[in-house]
Formats: sequence, C-alpha cells, structure tokens
Amino acid sequence: AELDTLDIVVLGVILCGTLAYLTKGKFWGIVKDPYASSFQNGTANANRAGRTRNIVEKMEESGKNCVIFYGSQTGTAEDYASRLAKEGKSRFGLETMVADLEEYDFDNLDTFPSDKVAMFVLATYGEGEPTDNAVEFYEFLTGEDVAFSEGNDPALENLNYVAFGLGNNTYEHYNSMVRNVDKALTKLGAHRIGDAGEGDDGAGTMEEDFLAWKDPMWAALASKMGLEEREAVYEPIFGIVDREGLTPESAEVYLGELNKMQLEGTNKGPFNAHNPYIAPISESRELFSAKDRNCLHLDVDISGSNLSYQTGDHIAVWPTNPGAEVDRFLDLFELAEKRNNVISVKALEPTAKVPFPTPTTYDAIVRYHLEICAPVSRQFVSTLAAFAPSEEIKAEMTRLGNDKDYFHEKTGPHFYNIARFLSAVSKGEKWTKIPFSAIIEGLTKLQPRYYSISSSSIVQPKKISITAVVESQTIPGRGDPFRGVATNYLFALKQKQNGDENPTPFGQTYEITGPRNKYDGIHVPVHVRHSNFKLPSDPAKPIIMIGPGTGVAPFRGFIQERAKQAKDGVNVGRTLLFFGCRKSTEDFMYKSEWEEYQEALGDKFEMVTAFSREGPKKVYVQHRLKERAQEVNELLLQKASFYVCGDAANMAREVNAVLVQLIAEGRGVTEQKAEEVVKMMRSTNQYQEDVW
Ligand code: FAD
Repeated sequence: AELDTLDIVVLGVILCGTLAYLTKGKFWGIVKDPYASSFQNGTANANRAGRTRNIVEKMEESGKNCVIFYGSQTGTAEDYASRLAKEGKSRFGLETMVADLEEYDFDNLDTFPSDKVAMFVLATYGEGEPTDNAVEFYEFLTGEDVAFSEGNDPALENLNYVAFGLGNNTYEHYNSMVRNVDKALTKLGAHRIGDAGEGDDGAGTMEEDFLAWKDPMWAALASKMGLEEREAVYEPIFGIVDREGLTPESAEVYLGELNKMQLEGTNKGPFNAHNPYIAPISESRELFSAKDRNCLHLDVDISGSNLSYQTGDHIAVWPTNPGAEVDRFLDLFELAEKRNNVISVKALEPTAKVPFPTPTTYDAIVRYHLEICAPVSRQFVSTLAAFAPSEEIKAEMTRLGNDKDYFHEKTGPHFYNIARFLSAVSKGEKWTKIPFSAIIEGLTKLQPRYYSISSSSIVQPKKISITAVVESQTIPGRGDPFRGVATNYLFALKQKQNGDENPTPFGQTYEITGPRNKYDGIHVPVHVRHSNFKLPSDPAKPIIMIGPGTGVAPFRGFIQERAKQAKDGVNVGRTLLFFGCRKSTEDFMYKSEWEEYQEALGDKFEMVTAFSREGPKKVYVQHRLKERAQEVNELLLQKASFYVCGDAANMAREVNAVLVQLIAEGRGVTEQKAEEVVKMMRSTNQYQEDVW
C-alpha cells in the first residue's frame, strides 16, 4: 500500500507511543501492522485471512499478558471487558487486550502461560443460554469430552483466570453462563483469581455489582501476579487524525454507513448482525387509542434481501440518535463547529478495534455509532474527572465517581445521559479537554434493539411485523421527558410514512433519510436473530400463551399461523391466549384482528383478557390464569406448550408462581413437587419464555 501523508502521521503517532513504552522497558509491537485492528468493514472477521485464532500466539506476538474475553449480546459485557482492559493497563501496567470469544479457538488453552491471565466477562442470555458469540466456546468447554491439543492432565493447570457474569435474577437460570464456565474451568484444573462476580440486571444493580466486584479482584490479581499499582494514567487507545483533504462529499467518507458495501452501494448480503439490511417499511400504524401512549405496528419488507425468518424469531433494529441529543453532545464537547470535519480513527495498538468505519465525521460517529443517550456509568465519571474544566468540577466529579450513594442521589431521578450529566455537573460549562479517544472508549457502541416478530413466516414470509411500545417517561421536575432511542426513531418513521414530512415525535428530530439519503423512502437497517421460541411442530398440540402488553407480539404470529393452518384444513389444537392491558378502549392492540382469527379458528381459539384499570381491583394475566387453573392443568397434562412473553421483572415470575400453585392443587402434590414439575417443563421446552 502507498504511504500517504496520513499514514506517515499515523506512523509518527504510533512510533511516539512505542518510544514512550520502550523507555519503560515495554514493547507493544505495534509498528508491525498498525492497521491490523482497524474496523473491518463490518463483516464477520473471525476467519479473515492471516488472522490467528490462536490466543496464545496472538498474545505472544502482541506482547500481552492479560486477555479479557467477552460473551456479549447487547454490548454491556463487551463494554465491561474493555473497561477492565483499560483499568488493568492504567492502574497496574498490565498489557491487556480484549477478545471476542467468537474469534478464537480454545483447544490450546492448556498452553496458556501461567504468568499471564485470562478474564472472562460472560453474559447469560434468555433461558440460561450463552450469547451468540459465546456458543462455540461454551459448547467446547462444557462438552462431554473436552480435548486439548497437548493432552496435559489436569489440562488447564497453568491457566489463571478471572470471571464476571452478567445476568438477571428474574430468570430461572440466573448467571448460569459464568457459573457453568467457572465450574468447567475449575474442573479442568484452572485457577480462579478472586471471586466469580455476578451482576444482576433484574435488581438494576449491574453496574454497582461490577464495580463492587472488581476492586477485590484487582487486589487478588495484583498479589498473585506481583503487580504494583501505579498512579492511573490515561493513555488513549485511538488516534484521531484530521483528514484535511477530504470533505463529507468525498466518496470514501462514511457518513453513517455501517460498512463498506453500504458505502459503495454494493450491498448484496448475506445480511446478519455484522451487516444489517436496509429494509423498507411497507406499512406502519398506531395500535393504541390513548392520548399519551403509543404503540407501533410496523411491517418490514425483506423481499429484496436473502433474509428469512421463522415464527417466534427476533428482528433487530439499528436506530439513529435523535438530533437534539447529537447537538447537545457535540456542543458540550465543543465539537459542533467541527461536526462535519473528516477524521480517521486508528487503533494505537494492534488488539484494539475501532468500533465504526472511518474516515468519517464527528457528526456521523455521534449520530450513528455511539450510545449517547444511555445512563451514565460511574466508572466513566471517574475517568472523566481528570478532564474537568475546573478544579472545583474535578473535585465534584471525583466524589461522584467514588461515592456510590452520592452518585445515585444526584443522578437517580434524572434519566441523565452523558452530555446532560456533565452539563449538570459543570453548570453548563463546556468540556473541552476530554480526548475524543476517551469518549469513544467510554461509551458503548450504539446497539441494535430486538423485537419479537409479531407475524407468522408461513403467512407473510417476506414481511416481518414489529409491535413496539414507544418508550417515553415523564421525569419529575424536568420539562422534557425521557425517550427511548429506537422506539422514538421508529415512531418518527411511522409519522413520516403516514404523511408527516418533518416528524417530530415528542419534539425529537431524526436524520430519517439516513447517510446520503440511503434510508429514504422509509427504510431502517435490520437483521434477524433466530430464537428457540417456537410453536410445537405438530399443529394439533394445544398451546397456552401468556402475553400482556407487547408481550403479545410473538403470539400474534403464532395465532396468525394457526388461523391459516385451520383455513387450510389442518387440524389445529386448542389455542389459549391470556392477554392483558390497561383498558379495552385504549391499549387493546389488534382488537379487530383477534376477531378474524376467532372466525378462522372457531372454538379452538380463546382469548382471555385482563384489563387492569377497568374494575375496582387491578386484574392481571396471572389472576386470569389462576381462574382457569383446572383447564390449564388439564391441557398441560395433554402436553400443551406453555409460553410466556413480555415483562421479565414481575409478570414472568408471577406466572411461574401461579403455575406451580395450580399444578400443586390440580394434581394434589406438594408445592415442592409442583416446582420440580415446572422445572422439568422448562428443561424439556414445554415451558418457553421470551422475556425482556
Ligand atoms: P432505550 O433508549 O434503549 O431505553 C430503554 C430503557 O433503558 C428506558 O426505558 C430506561 O428505563 C432505560 N434508560 C435508557 N437511557 C436511560 C438514561 N439515560 N437514564 C436512565 N435510564 C435510561 N419491546 C417491544 O416493545 N416489543 C417487543 O416485541 C420486544 N421484544 C423484545 C425481544 C427481546 C428478545 C428483547 C431483548 C427486547 C424486546 N423488546 C421489545 C424491548 C426492546 O428491545 C427495547 O428495549 C425497547 O423498545 C426500548 O428501546 P428504546 O431504544 O426505545 O429505549
């Protein structure tokens, strides 16, 4: 490749960094291939030519002594992994790298040197499953006859590891991923350092659980590896290079395009989590008739792609940040004037990855690639204290970063995002000293949001339906309420499609036509995620579905499917749906459609409703389930599949409790025995959950 000015500048930056390290007697090896870690145009890059899947070799050649593997679905585990990497480096001088579990093989873990450490940050997904990127690792490690290349015994005696899990205690298999991996590693002779941490999203304490776990872990690790703590120094991971020769009009500049094929307009698929399809929305409408609440129905047309789905799958939507928050963010960091300047972002060391394609603009990064609206992490607050505009603000930031209670007292009710938070702390003063690299490192990548597909793939194979409630919450004492990122963006798309040229849902504006107008004509980037939430293969089997609110989404698909089967003369089993909402006149979604399905299915289909705000007492689906105890128990004895979808925090747990009760009473067994029955139903997939 030619060396242009940029390359020389970048090499210069890198060489300086290297020299700095050499003086400390350390060598990063970064001159070898300064671009090795650049964003790989969004394609699955695990098997890229020339890239090793051997972690021991990778660490050796890049001079690392600590690898942090992550198993991540929504980006949090990945974020925690990179935070550990940064902290290990800045506090203890560890040579850290972050690694996607999907990108490495594990049969040589038995050659992992004993003077290095492997960390595992592992989210548990759904029913105790590994995240998509951790499936192979998990299957390998917990498999019947796990075999390593060297055949040592015990195989992993040299492996020192650290483990943290991200879970949700409202699920049956709480943090099962980290628990099972920890168990498997121990069994194979590996040595855990510190406790295996567990973060609980169900209790809303994930971040605090992580922070509370990591300090004793670092202490244990420091003692084990003989590390000395030093004054934490911030070292940027990314170099930002102004590309003066380029403008936003230059063809090679990414203005929000998610990968190279999108940039070049040559995108043919395959479409997946690394390469979303920019799909037209063929239809959209409002499902509620309430004044202050909205629920969207959207039909996404996938006929122009190779995408397919099965009833019960999930669709992921890639959102765009709202204009007002992009402006606030750029303004606070004094980037507003530079917003359309073209920059390249380069990883300053070979194992780091730039989380978006470049060259690009500040505007595009903030609008399309960073989660700028999310809650503020206390750890990030600590990091940013060093860059405060004044000593006074620095002191306040340090206190906020260190004092958990103070932090929660100050942030609790506000729904602050990072820009709102910093602006509140500095009383509006701009934050001009934060290196842009620190911002990229400290914020999560903008994540796609998942929706349970609400259509049947046999009825509409090329049209995926979404049923999404628009997130909007009033914040006490603040004029403008909190708004969810993806749902308000979709809301704007719906308004535009229905004739509003400049939609402003709740005052928000979006770049609806996307980068270079590529989303024009109401398009949205999507991909499909296959799930295990499935109808029984035999349509004659009875099914019981519990789906209050948007939890009814996949059941619309299930029932649509069974109505079609019935029309086609297939023998369809009993189809019992428990649905709940506030009022039959406000948020009873798809009301007229259920009547159509009723006609097609006759007495095979019954919808049991619970309207919580219509009577003197609040009635929820679990109460209705109890009223139908006898019938439900009988259907279960006939091997009916039992499905729960929607709110993980309360509803799913209460439904589980009612089920235990009705089985105990119906079968004359103890609660304990009934609990075992329910557990068995779960493990045999008779009981399936799709909760969030
Ligand atoms: P976000 O911006 O992501 O905010 C979500 C929530 O996070 C807020 O309500 C708030 O509680 C919190 N939050 C965000 N930012 C802040 C802040 N700055 N301060 C404090 N709190 C904050 N939803 C549906 O409507 N229908 C479905 O069919 C559906 N299916 C799903 C299936 C799966 C498998 C999963 C995982 C989720 C599903 N969801 C579904 C939920 C959906 O993915 C989104 O989470 C939801 O639509 C909200 O997205 P959002 O971007 O609008 O909100």
